[in-house]
Amino acid sequence: MPINIDHIRGLFPVLHQEVNGRPLVYFDNAATTQKPLAVINALSDYYKKDNSNIHRGAHTLADRATRYYEATRGLVKSFINAKEEAEIIFTKGTTEGINLVAATFGRKFIQEGDEIIISTLEHHSNIVPWQMLCEEKGAVLKVIPINEAGELDMQAFDELLTSKTKLVSVVHVSNALGTINPVAEIIQKSHQKGAKVLLDGAQSTSHLEIDVQALDCDFMAFSAHKLYGPTGLGVLYGKREVLDAMPPYQGGGEMIKEVTFAKTTYNEIPFKFEAGTPNIGDVIAFGKALEFINETGKKAIKAYEDELLSYATEQLEQIKGFIPVGTAKNKVSVISFNINGMHPFDVGMMLDANGIAVRTGHHCTQPLMQRFGIEGTVRASFSVYNTKSEIDTLVASVSKIAKIKNK
Ligand code: PMP
Repeated sequence: MPINIDHIRGLFPVLHQEVNGRPLVYFDNAATTQKPLAVINALSDYYKKDNSNIHRGAHTLADRATRYYEATRGLVKSFINAKEEAEIIFTKGTTEGINLVAATFGRKFIQEGDEIIISTLEHHSNIVPWQMLCEEKGAVLKVIPINEAGELDMQAFDELLTSKTKLVSVVHVSNALGTINPVAEIIQKSHQKGAKVLLDGAQSTSHLEIDVQALDCDFMAFSAHKLYGPTGLGVLYGKREVLDAMPPYQGGGEMIKEVTFAKTTYNEIPFKFEAGTPNIGDVIAFGKALEFINETGKKAIKAYEDELLSYATEQLEQIKGFIPVGTAKNKVSVISFNINGMHPFDVGMMLDANGIAVRTGHHCTQPLMQRFGIEGTVRASFSVYNTKSEIDTLVASVSKIAKIKNK
């Protein structure tokens, strides 16, 4: 089914407002997506009708909240085609998912002299936890370089991968450039060397169809808020055999089987990794976001976003002074750029004055910006509720702004 854009825009209340006297054009979707009314209502309905602590309650509200919470786990399982619901762990977000793996898998399986591979495209949340772990363990962090287009140098990856590599942790889709990485090849090659693979799916899950069994990744971390769901909530997928072998993350309620002062035994997965009262309301609301994606259709979303991407790219490239950053052949609907002679922040401020929301700066990828010898970029990222007419507004504004320094 093709995208019915009027219907879709009608589902997102935030889009229907003016900013600085102009209709809002929201092109900051890689930072966070907007929420459909069903998500907003699910959150308030939960607190109005169902609020209760989950899993052990003997009463009706607790039973209802538990069923709704666990239903979202089922939706996530299907969304990424995991083998079982127990492989879906709710976290605070991608950042916590990666930190969980670093803290538990890392604590148990990374030893002095072991190697971990990441890439130049990584978000800080897929750099810093590994640096901390490597420092603690005396392990070595290696980085896959990229070419000028912002694509991974796969020959270099082959050379970095050795029998000492214990973990390869790479971003599936770059948040700063939109590059789609060849993760199936990375996973297959890493497994041949006996290394586990974590995919940072923060950006890929909203644009691409995900099948963790077909990919065969060992872990995938992502955030609900980039998938039309609430902030402060995410998912860590892990294969059962890997999760079972890992020690718990945090100690507390929910994650235990039995506690005595002499010894504690731990709960089964996923509960072993979900200590304390979880973010119940947001998990339930996230279910509505996944239903929205399922109803709209991942294929239709991708096709529509790709259309927006090529429409915008073709026009922006005509503008004198427009400098694209990241021109990978295989990319999602993200356009990172600079304007010759102008600071990205100034460009962002001028676009905001026209009601256009973009992100400017290093996008939490400072080493990537250093690779390109720049401080940052302006990033316009498109989602399923954006339109060609909004892109026309962006192109007209960028064109006008570029003329200031590019006559
Ligand atoms: N990785 C990537 C590629 C991201 O885009 C982001 C969010 N900008 C993160 C990790 C971190 O996600 P969160 O802040 O939701 O934990």
